[in-house]
Amino acid sequence: MDTITALQTASSSKDPGVQAALLKLLEKQAELASLQMDELQETRGKRAEAIRIAKVMQEGTIADEKKKAIAVKNHQAGCDHRKPAPSHESAIAGQRDHQGVAHFICQYCAQEWTGGELPLSLRIPGDRLGGPQI
Ligand SMILES: [Zn+2]
Repeated sequence: MDTITALQTASSSKDPGVQAALLKLLEKQAELASLQMDELQETRGKRAEAIRIAKVMQEGTIADEKKKAIAVKNHQAGCDHRKPAPSHESAIAGQRDHQGVAHFICQYCAQEWTGGELPLSLRIPGDRLGGPQI
């Protein structure tokens, strides 16, 4: 006899002992359902909290990155891209890529230029460019 058949048979019984056992079984099932609901709500709460924390951390990271980008831009804007006195020569280093395009970078502020973007006053001799010579 399977469980459902047993329950159907028991539910039609007039025996007060069987009826009491059925009532107790229903109470236990309700208790179990309540515990499972509590557990599910706790799990959902933990998940929501984890998502909230991740979002706050992500927003903090984005804000930090924006602050860093602004600080770098300000540093680059204040840099004359030249070595200190007395030489005052260009502080630019450069490298040609495999297509012969020169990429330049200031050794102090890391501002970058590609090809003809580099101001004439900061140009460096071609033999100081790394990479394949044209
Ligand atoms: Zn610079």
